[in-house]
Amino acid sequence: MKTLPAVDVVIAGAGWTGLTMAKELATRTPLKIVVLERGGPHRTQDYADNMDELDYAVRLRLMQPIRDETVTFRHTARDRALPIRQYGSFLPGTGAGGSGEHWSGISYRYYPHDFRRFSHMLEQYGRAKLPEGCAVRDWPFSYDDLEPYYERAERMMGISGKAGNLRGRKIEGGNIFEGPRVSEFPTPPMKVPYLAALFRDATKSLGYHPFPLPAATTSVPYTNPDGVARAGCSFCGYCERFGCMIGAKAQPTNTLLPVLSRRNNFELRTGAWVRRVVVEAGRARGLRYMDSRGEEVFQPAELVFLASWTLNNTRLLQLSGIGEPYDPESGRGVVGRNLTHQVSVPAATLFFEKPLNAFMGAGSAGIAIGDLEALDHTRLDFVTGGALYTVCYGTRPIANFGLVPPSIHARWGADWKKAALHYYDRTGLIRFYGEHLAYGGNYMDLDPVYKDRYGDPLLRLTLDWRENERRMVEFASARAVEVGRAMGAREITRFPGLKRYESTRYQGTHIQGGTIVGANETDSVVNMYLEHWRVPNLFMLGASAFPQNPSGNPTLTAVAFTYRVADAVIQRYLKHPGALA
Ligand SMILES: Cc1cc2nc3c(=O)[nH]c(=O)nc-3n(C[C@H](O)[C@H](O)[C@H](O)COP(=O)(O)OP(=O)(O)OC[C@H]3O[C@@H](n4cnc5c(N)ncnc54)[C@H](O)[C@@H]3O)c2cc1C
Repeated sequence: MKTLPAVDVVIAGAGWTGLTMAKELATRTPLKIVVLERGGPHRTQDYADNMDELDYAVRLRLMQPIRDETVTFRHTARDRALPIRQYGSFLPGTGAGGSGEHWSGISYRYYPHDFRRFSHMLEQYGRAKLPEGCAVRDWPFSYDDLEPYYERAERMMGISGKAGNLRGRKIEGGNIFEGPRVSEFPTPPMKVPYLAALFRDATKSLGYHPFPLPAATTSVPYTNPDGVARAGCSFCGYCERFGCMIGAKAQPTNTLLPVLSRRNNFELRTGAWVRRVVVEAGRARGLRYMDSRGEEVFQPAELVFLASWTLNNTRLLQLSGIGEPYDPESGRGVVGRNLTHQVSVPAATLFFEKPLNAFMGAGSAGIAIGDLEALDHTRLDFVTGGALYTVCYGTRPIANFGLVPPSIHARWGADWKKAALHYYDRTGLIRFYGEHLAYGGNYMDLDPVYKDRYGDPLLRLTLDWRENERRMVEFASARAVEVGRAMGAREITRFPGLKRYESTRYQGTHIQGGTIVGANETDSVVNMYLEHWRVPNLFMLGASAFPQNPSGNPTLTAVAFTYRVADAVIQRYLKHPGALA
């Protein structure tokens, strides 16, 4: 194994969280920083040169190559796990920018009650109403603590939207259920596509409170506080699963790398596959990785950050033997616990008689309602909530062809083709993104059988829905059908209901847990500054720290949290290295 000269900071993963931390450290300190990224480089002009639905959206050009590493999956600890051999329910990215290159950009803040989820549920409904096996936690800090960092993250990305709560003043037209913000969004809301306008008008007529989705696709040209200028969105429809060819969608490569590439204390090393955190005498010494030539390399460093996304962060800790793996039988151990996804379903599929011009769109151009976040569950048989929304991604010829309404009985042949062509631009979706509680039986550990290309055990996911999620989806789908009728849809297909967790249906790359944050080391992996309880120079960035999924998409919170950690490291750790909490 080759040992390289030591650097100050080594970071595994060049996605939103890894590069946000790198940018803060590289611009505010003289530290020498190396980011190790196992995929290749990405640049905006690469996307402009060869935008192709088959290549990007169907063959998943930007995703982690599944032949090199995948995960195994099972529903319960009694089942045998099998490797996922084709991407289905989530799509992890690879290369500079990570999934932040091909994400949709919907950028909610979490609600204040999300940060005190356990106490909130207890106060509202009492212990008897908690679902069986529920392992939900409070975060060790509040929404107010994170608010200034949300604002920094929104400004860096140029998030467009409309405030619904400015310093406590509720504003119609924004999300009136959101926590108080100190200032307006940095850019105005995106234009509202036709289908979303139908949704907005229908929900309003039913007494709901529609608002424009907060979007990382800027509505107008925007220059962020780091001096990085980006174009406004052109609604080309090649957004989710693609990198943006004009740089209108905030991606790590068009917001953070332009700043970092000007610094001579920063190096991005691509083709570097991290396999272990090396720990000696309670301190992380650096990262061991395979380089693109297949040679094993050790990069020593004073400070180590894992920013390799939920699944890889959890796996790297387990492969490195750091901390006690979670055991669902005894409830002991912490690494791997509280695996959550997001309850994401096409609640209602709507078929219209009029064309929708749905080929125009962007990953986060749409309208949502937050009213189902603020339900009184006293007379309901579930305790969670979520958002109903219509997002107009931009229908594309391959992925969005073939849906026909229930009245068309043909499933192939000339009649089906005719109907599929007719409904190609007359079909819309109302989606539901709901909260996923943590349960003692949903967790991650190392698979005893299957291995990756280097012979390391794969991560094993044990995951299934519970009655609470099924009932919530039932309730939300019924509301979506009512909204669909008010939108004037001629026919509607209602989501048939959640049964078992499906690893084959795309649900969102919003997976949380495994290295959760908490107030003490008996039931969490990292403290409120994402610093490992037992290895104080090791930090774990990203949604692996989230104790559960609070319905909203996770990225803005992961980036805001990274800013908070960066401040703690720069202002306190570097002056007095050691435990921050
Ligand atoms: C299609 C799609 C749509 C999405 N839409 C939204 C949305 O609308 N809103 C939202 O909030 N979120 C969305 N997401 C999720 C969002 O992309 C992620 O939450 C976010 O990118 C996570 O950032 P991260 O830095 O934690 O991890 P990542 O972006 O996954 O970056 C981690 C990086 O680490 C690298 N890495 C992993 N393992 C290793 C290793 N062993 N060695 C070296 N490098 C390694 C990976 O290659 C990757 O580049 C979407 C994701 C997808 C796929």
